Amino acid sequence: MEKTVQLYEGKAKKVYATADETLCIVSYKDDATAFNGVKKGTIAGKGVVNNRMTNMLMQLLEQQGVPTHFVEEINERDTVVKRVKIVPLEVIIRNVSAGSFAKHYGVEEGIVFDEPTIEFSYKNDDLGDPLLNSYHALALKLATKEEIELIKKYSFKVNEVLKAYFLKLGVRLIDFKLEFGKLNDGTIVLADEISPDTCRFWDAKTGEKLDKDRFRRDMGGVEDAYKEIFKRVTTGE
Ligand code: UDP
Repeated sequence: MEKTVQLYEGKAKKVYATADETLCIVSYKDDATAFNGVKKGTIAGKGVVNNRMTNMLMQLLEQQGVPTHFVEEINERDTVVKRVKIVPLEVIIRNVSAGSFAKHYGVEEGIVFDEPTIEFSYKNDDLGDPLLNSYHALALKLATKEEIELIKKYSFKVNEVLKAYFLKLGVRLIDFKLEFGKLNDGTIVLADEISPDTCRFWDAKTGEKLDKDRFRRDMGGVEDAYKEIFKRVTTGE
């Protein structure tokens, strides 16, 4: 499978067409952005970590009954995925308070919730990805009621699977963002990535951050954090 024309360049990935119109190739970059593109930088080796980690997790989720866009990894940065129309909703699941939740509601980070929370934002960079609820999403025709229900169900399932998976690796899954896509026949599948760019991971013993917050907050040790979480995922310990 080879790349033909570039379809799209995002902040962290490029997407290429292939000879098969139902497939495309995603290519992961080392570029990093935060705060809706205001902060820019690179994290050496990030593209490799995010590509391989996403693919491992997508395969695990498929086995657990969550359909995904994953098809085949071609090399350390490039992966064949099913071509989808991205549903313009970002889904955020939280197990523990952090980031914008702590800020919005004026609470400290680290409060463990009895039940996970779900929130949506409208995937629209010009508007700064505004928060909305499912009624707003319906009003804006971003998805149907059935699609929103399915997206919620899959998102909580992803949380259950990944929370248990990471705990075995000594990592707490604090929160994460998901995106879904629609195949030509209307099937909803998990798309985009699942990586330290899109999840908060805290070491279960030390509480050390093993994710993009180290970049967002200028904490240093960014590359090492990506390497550490990747090592645990690939060695299983
Ligand atoms: N997140 C993401 N992309 C976004 C916004 C959030 O991947 O555009 C992820 C982020 O890495 C974190 C979770 O979603 O794991 C919750 O992020 P939050 O709403 O707390 O926003 P932040 O504090 O990152 O601005």
